[in-house]
Parts: sequence; structure tokens; C-alpha cells
Amino acid sequence: MKKVLETRTVRVGENVLIGSGHPIVVQTMCNTHTSDIDATVAQCKLLAAAGSQLIRITVPAMADVKHLEEIKNRLRAEGIQTPLVADIHFSSEIAMAVVPVVEKIRINPGNFHPDHQKARALFGEFLQLCKQYNRAIRIGLNHGSLGKYIVEKYGNTPEAMALAAMEWVQMCMDAQFYNVVVSLKASNTVVMVQAYRNLARMMQENGVVFPLHVGVTEAGNGDSGRIKSCVAISTLLEEGIGNTIRVSLTEPPQNELPVAQYLAHRYSEAPAPVLGEREETILQAACDYGAPLLNHEVDDIPLSDEYLKDELLQACRRKFYKPEYIACPGCGRTLYNLEETFNRVKEATAGFKDVVIAVMGCIVNGPGEMADADYGYVGEGFGKVTLYRKKEPVLRHIPEDEAVERLVELIRKDQVK
Ligand code: SF4
Repeated sequence: MKKVLETRTVRVGENVLIGSGHPIVVQTMCNTHTSDIDATVAQCKLLAAAGSQLIRITVPAMADVKHLEEIKNRLRAEGIQTPLVADIHFSSEIAMAVVPVVEKIRINPGNFHPDHQKARALFGEFLQLCKQYNRAIRIGLNHGSLGKYIVEKYGNTPEAMALAAMEWVQMCMDAQFYNVVVSLKASNTVVMVQAYRNLARMMQENGVVFPLHVGVTEAGNGDSGRIKSCVAISTLLEEGIGNTIRVSLTEPPQNELPVAQYLAHRYSEAPAPVLGEREETILQAACDYGAPLLNHEVDDIPLSDEYLKDELLQACRRKFYKPEYIACPGCGRTLYNLEETFNRVKEATAGFKDVVIAVMGCIVNGPGEMADADYGYVGEGFGKVTLYRKKEPVLRHIPEDEAVERLVELIRKDQVK
């Protein structure tokens, strides 16, 4: 019998319902600058037409709250009712300011203040405001950006991620605020699956299960990004865990939707996307073999397509046949051509073995989000790049046109040591 994790239902805006009693909701995020209202409106229209049921927009600065309002007004004036989600990274002031504007707000409450007690107090105020406006929220914690207090208290493991989320979940319950979705994303598929399983179990034990937004963060692009996303998300969906999906790809955001729609259709009553034959083969193989490989139920899979087999084994972290890449999808904070740069980095580093290389779109969140990367290429904007070894910036402010070469040199030197 199909497994289902029974959850509460969260309503976003008038018509979007997220929870176990409803088809899986697919969503994506704009990668335009929020201050570029024309470009963001145009992208939202394109994404809504392509079937995105929620559209997330970053709000990096207080000045962007007005831009967000204008974007929403223009969309509504054109009859586009898709609920908007404000993506807030650190500032509780911006989080509060967007509550009257959009239907849903994504926050990581631990980042509201370096002092944990103050962060809790600010989150309490934020919940009261969301209650007043009847908004939905997502508590979104990512592996790699858990925050000092959390890492010191719980560690940096899938169990720690779930425990950290439970603290905020409990605060929502204490405030009797239930319009809450939770996510615990990681770029490592094993960590991601384990974190969500822990959280699902902890919420069940606690008696209130909020819907889960599932996704692999910084999955990269092309076949690898699709396969990495599908093996992990499908493993959870097979267990009935997951009510809304975002497939994060370092590609135009509309490319994410058919992949998310394939997953939503395979595991719920959501409509099927139109896919090319090759794409369907890849997604189907990732969903068929993801859980058995990730769960170590099998060591090998009966595929004659050696490339696809290698990709699947690597996505499930069973065999590394090429470097492992982490790349964020980019958003309104990205100040350089992330997609093109990521492809150049992949091409230049393809010959290395046993390394994890991250390419991140911004210096504000990129370093924190790189998780367990060995090397990081982080765009600062204005033609400059900082290169990281583990969490340490080792070459700062490098001109962009030299940066890929310098990254290759750095890795090569380390490998001959
Ligand atoms: S790391 Fe990438 S996706 Fe995350 S905020 Fe920066 S540019 Fe946006």
C-alpha cells in the first residue's frame, strides 16, 4: 500500500493547498534581480504559464520590499494569481516588512540574530504578524548554513538539522500558528534524505506534522542536477514524505518545472508534464533506482547505459567517477553569469578525482551554503571572485577572467602535495 505521512494542510493565498490530502505542489524561484521589476514580472508570467504553483522571489534589501509589492500588483493586474513567496535570508526587519505584501514568507529564524534568545524573540514577533495577516511561512534550514548556536548545540548532522527545525516548529505550535511548511535541504543526497526522515519522525512523535517542502539544494545542472534531485526526492516521496517540491537547477528556472512535475505526477494526482524521450528515461531511472541505491538495498543496477549508471551511482554517493559539483541555482543576489561560469568550471575540472567543487552565486550566502565542498568559486560581483579551500577564502578579489584558471591551479597544487 502507498505510504503517506499524514500532515496538516497549509493554505497559501486563496487556492494553493499544501499537505498530504492534496496533490504535490510544484514551485520554483526567480533568478532575476528583484529591483528589475520588468524582468521579474516577465519571468513570473513565464513560470506561472509553465505551471509553477508558487513563485519565490528574493528580497535581499529593505528597498526590495517596494519592488516586490510592485511586482505583485502588476501580476495581479494582469490576472496572474500565483501566490508569491518572499525569500528572506537574515533580516527579521525585512521578513516583517514583506508580511503584508505576499502570501508566503521563507525564513531561517536562526539567522534573525546572532544571539539565539533574541532570534527566538524576533521569530515570536514575526509569527504574530503572520497570524494577523493569515500568511503561510516556510521554516527553511539548509545543511551548511545551520548557524553557530545550532552547530554548537546539536552538531552538523541530519539529526541536528531536524532537532534545530523542531525548536522553531515547537515555537509555532506554542503560538498556535499552524500555517507552516518546513524544509531541511542539503546538496548531499544521503544527508538530505536522512534529515527529512528524522524530522518526519520527530513531528509525528510530537503530535503535529507540518507539510514538508522537499528539495536537494545546489544540485547543479544538466543530467547530474536532475538525477541528484530525483534520487533523493523520490526516495522520500516513496515513503510518503514531501508535499511541495522545488528542483534547484543552475539553469533558467522554467527548466526545473518539468522535473518537479514528473515527480509530483509520479507520486500524486498532479498533472503529467510533456517530456522528451531521453529526459523521461533519465528521470524514470533516477526514481526507479534512487531508493534502492540510497538505502543500500542494492550495490549495482541492471542498466546497460554506463553513463547513466555512473551518474546514478554518483548521485547516490555510491561511486564517484568524476568531481562532485555543488552549484546554487542563482537568484536576485547573483551578480555574474552563473550558468556559463559553472559550465566553464565543470569543463576545466572534469579530469580531477575525489574533489567536491562548489560554484556559488553570491558572497553573502554562497560560502555558508557550500556545505562540505573542498573548493569554492564564489562570485563577489563587479568582475571579482573569491576562491575557497574548504571554508577558508584563499584567493580573494581575483578578476573573473582569471578565476577558473586559478581554481584549477589551486586544486592541481593541492593534489601533487
Ligand atoms: S548562494 Fe546562490 S541561490 Fe543562494 S542567495 Fe546566493 S546567489 Fe542566491
